[in-house]
Amino acid sequence: MRLTLCPLFSGSSGNCIYVACGGVRLLVDVGMAASRIEAELREIGVDIRDLDAVLITHEHVDHIRGIGVLCRKYGLPVYANEGTWNGIMAKDSRIPARCMRTFFTGEDFYIGDVNIHPFSIPHDALEPVGYAFSCKGLRCAVATDIGHIRADWMEAVAGSQAIVLEANHDIDMVHMGPYPQRLKQRILGRHGHLNNTDCAKALLELVKTGTQAVFLAHLSNDNNLPELAYNTVCEALKAAGYDADDEICVHVARRDRVSDLLILDTGDPA
Ligand SMILES: [Zn+2]
Ligand SMILES: [Zn+2]
Repeated sequence: MRLTLCPLFSGSSGNCIYVACGGVRLLVDVGMAASRIEAELREIGVDIRDLDAVLITHEHVDHIRGIGVLCRKYGLPVYANEGTWNGIMAKDSRIPARCMRTFFTGEDFYIGDVNIHPFSIPHDALEPVGYAFSCKGLRCAVATDIGHIRADWMEAVAGSQAIVLEANHDIDMVHMGPYPQRLKQRILGRHGHLNNTDCAKALLELVKTGTQAVFLAHLSNDNNLPELAYNTVCEALKAAGYDADDEICVHVARRDRVSDLLILDTGDPA
C-alpha cells in the first residue's frame, strides 16, 4: 500500500496538492488555472480525468482559482464546508450543483478507502480547514494558511507520517519588507500565516508523534526564502537532537511547479 503526496503549486500565487492512496486520487485546493494543474499532474504521470475529487481548504483565490473550469470541464466532485461554499459562490456562482459536496468541519468522511478528517484552523476566511488523511495505516496531513499554533489542529495532524506544513514568512523580513503596515499586521496576526520559527516549533512536536517527512509550504515570495525556511527548520531539528534530512526528511514546496514526489509505503501490495 502506498500513499503519495506532492505539492503541484504552493504560495500566495496558487496552491494545489496531490494526495493519492488506495487507488483514490485527490487534489487539496485548486488555486491555479486548470490548464496549469493539468500540465503539472502530467509531469507526475497523472491524467486529470483520473482524479476522484477536489477538497477545498478555504475560499481565498490562491486556493480556488481553477475551481470553475475544473467543475464545468471535468465534472469533478468538489468537497468544502458550508462557510467555504458560501465564500466560493460569492466569487463564482457558476459552479454546477452536481459537483458540490458539503461536509461538516470536524466530521470524518470517506472517499473510497481514504478517511478524511477536516479540522478547523485559525485563518481570516469564512470557515477554513486543514485535512488529515488516513488509509490502511498510512497518514498524512495538509496544514497551511494558519495564523498560529493551536492545540486543536496540532492534535488533528499528530501521527501524520508526512505533512505539508506552512512556513510562510520570516518575521524580521516582514518587519523590514515593503508591505504596507496593515498587510504586515494581517500576515503576522493570529489569523494570518505561520512563520518559519513557529513551523519549526510545530514540527518538533509532530516528530514526537511519528512525523518523518515535511513539505515546508505556502512560502511568501517577498517575506521568505526557500533556504531560510529550510535552514530555520533543520537547525531547530538538529538542536533537538534529530538528524535533519536523514531521520526527518525536509522538503521545500516549489511555488510554480511540481515539487518532489513523496511516497509512504507499507511494503504490502496495494
Ligand atoms: Zn493561501
Ligand atoms: Zn488564505
